[in-house]
Amino acid sequence: MSFSKLGLCSEILRAIKEEGYTTPTPIQAQSIPVILSKKDVLAGAQTGTGKTAGFTLPLLQRLTKSTSKDSKYPKALILTPTRELAAQVAQSVETYGKYLPFKSAVIFGGVGINPQKALLKKGVDIIIATPGRLIDLISQDSLNLSKIEFLILDEADRMLDMGFINDIKKILAILPKQRQNLLFSATFSTEIKKLADGLLKSPILIEV
Ligand code: AMP
Repeated sequence: MSFSKLGLCSEILRAIKEEGYTTPTPIQAQSIPVILSKKDVLAGAQTGTGKTAGFTLPLLQRLTKSTSKDSKYPKALILTPTRELAAQVAQSVETYGKYLPFKSAVIFGGVGINPQKALLKKGVDIIIATPGRLIDLISQDSLNLSKIEFLILDEADRMLDMGFINDIKKILAILPKQRQNLLFSATFSTEIKKLADGLLKSPILIEV
């Protein structure tokens, strides 16, 4: 199995080659074709399996086919439980997308809100965020999520453990109904299953 067989464009293939990746990990081999086929995904994957590239690579590829070409409103929202993970995912988006024209912003609490507002005002395609600060920006009218086409919950079990369920529900309530949803979680508790049931439409289950 090689990355070139998975349906990724040359810009993405060039970036992953530069990272030294030669073979997709098992989660990537499964998730990339399914995400490219526009289906919702429920994925069970631990850290270290290559899960970040498993959703970032096909997301970038899907965005190249997005109908709206400007960066005025974000098209993809990636939610993570912690700022460390948000920063890591944002780094992956930058690395794998370095030959693509998309702009991204990483949004988390504990740092000044004004630089984040200024960044959003310039326009971004992809937002990587922790739920609390995202809600702050929405409530201050600094963020318009009405054009979101892709929602990714990364480490969803940790988000629930950290008490983010109400924030997640608030965010889900303002997103457009027509969108692709991906839920990644290391464990599947009753709460995660409930969240997945409410969020995902006929999801493809991926477990590694
Ligand atoms: P993750 O599970 O997303 O935290 O990724 C774990 C590590 O694996 C990261 O340091 C990635 O850079 C690396 N990685 C991801 N995909 C591949 C791949 N296909 N080949 C080699 N390394 C990879």
